Amino acid sequence: MEIEARLADVKQKIEKAEREAGRPAGSAQLVAVSKTFDAEAIRPVIQTGHRVFGENRVQESQAKWPELKAETPGIELHLIGPLQSNKAADAVALFDVIETVDREKIARALSTEMKAQGRQLPVYVQVNTGLEPQKAGIAPDDAVSFAGFCRQELGLDVVGFMCIPPADENPGPHFALLAKLAKEAGLERLSMGMSGDYETAIQFGATSVRVGSAIFGAR
Ligand SMILES: *Cc1c(COP(=O)(O)O)cnc(C)c1O
Repeated sequence: MEIEARLADVKQKIEKAEREAGRPAGSAQLVAVSKTFDAEAIRPVIQTGHRVFGENRVQESQAKWPELKAETPGIELHLIGPLQSNKAADAVALFDVIETVDREKIARALSTEMKAQGRQLPVYVQVNTGLEPQKAGIAPDDAVSFAGFCRQELGLDVVGFMCIPPADENPGPHFALLAKLAKEAGLERLSMGMSGDYETAIQFGATSVRVGSAIFGAR
């Protein structure tokens, strides 16, 4: 299948999942995850009219997105990978949404940079719903207070929570936990669901799904 056909297929499945969950069409945003794919592979997706993309590395993104953004106005680029504080300035300059605020140090660095650059970007707090030691994110018990700290003390525009459930577990309980925490924190947005489980995530209230390989192919 061509990349355009795979994108159309994913969009159709998102609409179906929205309908089945009794949710309005378009209430789950598709973030097309283009990591490891170059500008040549990404352009056909932009040409279909799709505008929202996700990348997990700052440096890799700097090699392709300034040009792609210059070609097409209205691109919305999400950082979905871990951020080092020495890359915060570059990330704030290039990305439009930061989904991976996963510790206090990075929250502080982003706050400082956003003020310095006059770019107040929407951010998500990443929650380590499975408490996996190798995975980034705030522990579920601390997520609500951390979101409050980011908003009130650092002035960050926290719009929601993001999670990556453990690969070997049923994702449903993790999505449900993230939804519950967002409700407690008074946050509107939930970034959850990838190629293997985005339809499930929509059932549980995902407002953004991050889909890579189902669109671009295997990495
Ligand atoms: C790579 C990645 C995705 C997309 O994964 P696929 O399984 O290819 O859809 C989603 N979220 C994050 C954080 C990723 O790093």
